[in-house]
Amino acid sequence: MESFDVIICGSGPAGLAAGLAAASNGASTVILDPNYVIGRKLCATGNGRCNFSNTLPPLKFMAEFGRHGRFMTDALRAAPREFFLDLLQKEGIRPTVENEIHYFPMNGRASDVRDAFLRAAKRAGAETRLSVSARRILVEDGKCVGVETDGGEVFKASHVILACGGTAAPSLGGTASGLELAKELGHGVREPVATLAPIHVDDPWISELAGLTVPDAELGVMVGTRHVSMRGSLLFTHTGFSGPAALNLSGTVNRVLLEGEPSHIFLRVLPDKKEQNLYDYLVDEREKVPDHLLKNSLARIMPRSLASLVCERLFGEDFHSKRLTNAGAHELAHLLDRMPFTVSKPATMDEAMAMDGGVLLKEVDPRTMESRLVKGVHFAGEILDLTGATGGFNIQFALSSGRLAGLAAAGTL
Ligand SMILES: Cc1cc2nc3c(=O)[nH]c(=O)nc-3n(C[C@H](O)[C@H](O)[C@H](O)COP(=O)(O)OP(=O)(O)OC[C@H]3O[C@@H](n4cnc5c(N)ncnc54)[C@H](O)[C@@H]3O)c2cc1C
Repeated sequence: MESFDVIICGSGPAGLAAGLAAASNGASTVILDPNYVIGRKLCATGNGRCNFSNTLPPLKFMAEFGRHGRFMTDALRAAPREFFLDLLQKEGIRPTVENEIHYFPMNGRASDVRDAFLRAAKRAGAETRLSVSARRILVEDGKCVGVETDGGEVFKASHVILACGGTAAPSLGGTASGLELAKELGHGVREPVATLAPIHVDDPWISELAGLTVPDAELGVMVGTRHVSMRGSLLFTHTGFSGPAALNLSGTVNRVLLEGEPSHIFLRVLPDKKEQNLYDYLVDEREKVPDHLLKNSLARIMPRSLASLVCERLFGEDFHSKRLTNAGAHELAHLLDRMPFTVSKPATMDEAMAMDGGVLLKEVDPRTMESRLVKGVHFAGEILDLTGATGGFNIQFALSSGRLAGLAAAGTL
């Protein structure tokens, strides 16, 4: 029977950062993963380029995770972005910032980010075991004593870090296995739904716009009496929407559907213009250029294909501005301000980049990432009920929480 100080379940960014922290601080450490490669999902991130962080300062960074974002205050303090930038540079990976916000490795290879962490962790003494899955966390007297693997082997350790990720992207190793382990320990889990996924709608005409990108749109959904919306670039697809605004709203939409509510989403194609501004614009155009086609007037302020389709659906083809009544202008302005779509079905985990849901945060100590229920068990990364927007949030959180868990497990906090 092998014995370690720290066993880490999962070789994603959380597990690798945890392994590096624990081994560098003198703990004998092993990283287990059921996959046949280390950090398989990490290597596919950012279209294979790995958007591993962003330039937001900690408070703004945490705010992007919603009202529980402050949970990671200690993790970001113990393991800030600068720590990882420095580490990557020492391992020969030059980071670069795109669009003034997103960090990528300059050579555009996600696998090099994985290799850098793995190299550093191994140099520090961490061992790895592939094609090995943790089947059970062994507990005696409320304390962790080891892990039983799917092959029936037992590894002894007083600290186990569950960095098993979530259920998104099963083809890249996404699984509920870590959540099941947490449940067996008595932890509550908020039911996972797909997030950072496309939104599918029941309005077939939308397929005519497939491929269109609106650089700045707002997509919203009603959650009870609250209107939740996301703003950003939006891509029309054959079945609905993708792009940051849709990806970032998808978790909320899927949860509304899970709770049995019929779901409508609302699109504002011109989020800086209020309904009244739009009405004024239409009436103004009617007076200034009455013989112009209404769709051409609209195309001056929004994408032409969308302008044409909206005008055609509302007023028929070749509709001139002079024919627009005040009531028609109101109707069109209202539609542009709040265009409704019916969500046809929730996105699947195969389509998702992350899981919304996971191990309840109130059962985890944010200062050590240790379970409040079982001593010696720690959590890190996406397995926790904390998911950020697209754009380097989730990997940075996985790295920071992983490092904090590793430091705590090695007893160096
Ligand atoms: C296509 C795609 C692109 C993405 N792009 C980005 C991006 O550019 N930027 C960003 O910030 N985020 C991105 N994400 C999200 C990001 O990949 C995850 O949030 C991140 O990998 C979570 O890290 P983790 O270490 O917690 O989990 P994971 O990376 O999922 O790693 C968990 C590991 O645990 C292993 N495991 C599972 N069960 C067990 C068990 N029982 N025993 C032992 N090991 C187990 C799994 O095999 C897996 O290797 C993307 C996701 C996808 C799917």
